[in-house]
Amino acid sequence: MHQLDTRSVHAGRDDLTALGVHVPPIDLSTTYPLPGVHSGGTAYDVLANGHAPAGGSLVYQRLWNPTVARFEDALAELEHTDGAVAFGSGMAALTACLLATVAAGRPHVVAVRPLYGGSDHLLSTGLLGTTVTWASVDGIAAAIRPDTGLVIVETPANPTVELVDLAAVTAAAGDVPVLVDNTFATPVLQQPARHGASLVLHSATKYLGGHGDVMGGVVAAGVEWVGRLRQIRAVTGGLLHPLAAYELHRGLQTLPVRVRAQQATAIKLADWLSAQPSVDRVYYPGLTDPAGLIGRQQAGPGSVIAFALSGGFEAASRVAAGLKLITHAVSLGGVDTLIQHPAALTHRLVAAEAKPGEGLLRLSIGLEDPEDLAEDLQQALSA
Ligand code: PLP
Repeated sequence: MHQLDTRSVHAGRDDLTALGVHVPPIDLSTTYPLPGVHSGGTAYDVLANGHAPAGGSLVYQRLWNPTVARFEDALAELEHTDGAVAFGSGMAALTACLLATVAAGRPHVVAVRPLYGGSDHLLSTGLLGTTVTWASVDGIAAAIRPDTGLVIVETPANPTVELVDLAAVTAAAGDVPVLVDNTFATPVLQQPARHGASLVLHSATKYLGGHGDVMGGVVAAGVEWVGRLRQIRAVTGGLLHPLAAYELHRGLQTLPVRVRAQQATAIKLADWLSAQPSVDRVYYPGLTDPAGLIGRQQAGPGSVIAFALSGGFEAASRVAAGLKLITHAVSLGGVDTLIQHPAALTHRLVAAEAKPGEGLLRLSIGLEDPEDLAEDLQQALSA
């Protein structure tokens, strides 16, 4: 098998030369001609039951789309899974996993905080019929019950970039499937399926797209989960648009280059921030990695940094508003650097006991020159 950089460029494109094209064609059909009623019905059954098309009509876009399937195949190849299922957003992807768990009669979830605020909120509210027990990694085994259908972790975790030891999580989970949100690491730095995860989730909106102009979610998994998630997607309709799939597939081609370049700048800026007197603490796995997971589980620390200001909320608000080059906006993983205040924004709905601190800011480092970013941070910190 080729190396990751080569696969990122070529995955999901094996048939292009035979098709006589150089970039993937985009199929926008919402419906497909049916050769006959009987064969149409047979094709419908195949797709609605979560299988790949068996040569018949593709029937309807909610059941199957070739452009989306190309992106799914490519992502699965990078994540080392049998397949992947793409959705309209990261939250739609998580929703499908939770609905599949409820449908299997195991609605209890064990989850490790922190998680992205939206995921935390979805679990806390039980909106989809799940119940949650929040646990530390050491508490996972004790929290598991006969009706536990999933263990959910994020590593690195949003917003404080803590790493979670996946070998420890999968050992504690036993037979219970483990879902790892791999949005921050991307398959360039970490492939959770190789550490025993059953489900690998991405907000594709972030690094996979990489340019802040496409929303999507995807779950890479083994063949059984892929079938179940396709069935859920067909029924609930949380599908990815083919134009978005095209952009995400293209995004994969530059993913390794972007991730490594953004990470190189983040390493410099984390050091720089650590030396600033108004910064109380910098959260970055490149600075502290007590369990030694960089190298063993994750190839590098990534490009999200969080930092706490000694001046608390007032200082954090002033810095966020005072930046000129860096944009004050939620989201992350794009080519331009973004900053946001998790307690007020991405983690606004998280319960008080698990909410990030009021002085905390989260930076997603882009592809700008590190000195220009430091200069902008410097003027905002000293204002
Ligand atoms: N997972 C993580 C780690 C995230 O940061 C986000 C969004 O910020 C999501 C999931 C949700 O993804 P989306 O916004 O694409 O629905």
